[in-house]
Amino acid sequence: QVRVRFAPSPTGGLHIGGVRTILFNYLFAKQNKGKFILRIEDTDQTRFVEGAEDYIFSCLEWCGIKADESPRDGGEYGPYRQSERKPIYRKYAEQLVKSGHAYYAFDTSEELESKRQVTENFRYDHHSRHTLRNSLTIPHEAAESLVKEGAPHVIRIKMPKDENITFTDMIRGDISFHSSEVDDKVLLKADGMPTYHLAVVVDDYLMKITHAFRGEEWLPSAPVHLLLWKYLGWGNEMPQWAHMPLILKPNGNGKLSKRDGEKLGFPVYPINWYDNKRDVKSNGFKDVGFLPEGFINMLAMLGWNDGTDQELFSLEDLIEKFSLDRIHKAGAKFDYDKAKWYNAEWIKRRKTDDLLMPVKDILNYHGIHNIDDGYLAKVIDMVKERCQLLSEFHQQAFFFFEAPEKYDTNSVKPKWTPEKETFFKAFADELQKGKINESAKMESSFKSLASEKNIKVGEVMLPFRIMLVGDKFGPQVFDIAATLGAEETINRINKALE
Ligand code: GLU
Repeated sequence: QVRVRFAPSPTGGLHIGGVRTILFNYLFAKQNKGKFILRIEDTDQTRFVEGAEDYIFSCLEWCGIKADESPRDGGEYGPYRQSERKPIYRKYAEQLVKSGHAYYAFDTSEELESKRQVTENFRYDHHSRHTLRNSLTIPHEAAESLVKEGAPHVIRIKMPKDENITFTDMIRGDISFHSSEVDDKVLLKADGMPTYHLAVVVDDYLMKITHAFRGEEWLPSAPVHLLLWKYLGWGNEMPQWAHMPLILKPNGNGKLSKRDGEKLGFPVYPINWYDNKRDVKSNGFKDVGFLPEGFINMLAMLGWNDGTDQELFSLEDLIEKFSLDRIHKAGAKFDYDKAKWYNAEWIKRRKTDDLLMPVKDILNYHGIHNIDDGYLAKVIDMVKERCQLLSEFHQQAFFFFEAPEKYDTNSVKPKWTPEKETFFKAFADELQKGKINESAKMESSFKSLASEKNIKVGEVMLPFRIMLVGDKFGPQVFDIAATLGAEETINRINKALE
């Protein structure tokens, strides 16, 4: 069975790069009728950020992605939080020491620091191994008794001196490394916690992981993971990796960073994220008015397409169509305008009933309350084509709920005449008398009255719109008037003429 994992470290807010990795893992798992596993990799307590795990779950929930196994959903391979698995790892580290693929090292951080100061680009590897106070200069038995006596120590992998390490990446194909490129990474820290390298390999094995998509930044760690797997004697059944292509800045110049959003004014987080180290609140896609459908569609297309011109995919479509060979190897430029285009398309496609709640929230936020669902549904149908973001529903629809407070009179005033004023008063009277509430009837009454009074219809249309909306935009003006109803239309005409 296909078992795919995403294994975030709760070291900060998950940004769009992380969510795209989740999405690809999830699509691959579901397409292959497999399981999607979420494991929290929290072994580095110094980088732990309060709230980061909750945030990951909130993002998943908003995106409509559900893990089959996770710290919250349980599962038969738990616990799924590495800090709760601490006792598991030492045995594997010791096994590696026994087989000669790892060793105890007793260097204190001060000692390492002073080495770093005297040796430029200092690396703990087969060169430095012999000059440091580790088990290779201390005979193995002596090292063991030091460990027994409780001397603080770490366990490091012993990287081979001269070996080619190769694997086949699901996206990039064959990749090879030379062992001399990699230092002797710490596997088990002095406090008994595993490092990421040991924990990721042990847990992928114990949790029977078959595939994993992860960020490109993990590619340099792949040789360490491959060797550990081999040294632990787990054969060829390593999980298959796909290292994701980068998401690039809009100008294509380097990797999109969390700060680019702040600088360029677009979100890079799925949901608002508050970074308390920097005391900065960053907007999320959700909070600026994205629908999860729009967000997911946009993310999927950052680095993938189905080989046709089709651009709109629901999560279900993606599960069906997703394919490894259509993932681009090169980075994908983030384009906020295109992101909004996807969202606009999904706003148009969402059933009106399913827009009621989010739009009501927006209107409430702007102080518009006591909204009737039937009325709101009508309004949504009239304006949804004009909104790229949910938040724009306020700007596009507020006048259906409250009379304008300001009028854009610049384009009307210079051509205003007493005849026009008389026309509007007469029109208000007609609406009143005939109780005219339908768009087509309002329009024909408006037009015949204009011709009766010898006024060009084109010259009173814009003023009429400004009386109702306050400005030059919005749906067809008689549709607006009909939705407001005769009484409110009359009120607005009178108020504007005051
Ligand atoms: N815990 C790592 C991270 O935070 C996971 C890397 C991997 O998927 O191997 O990204």
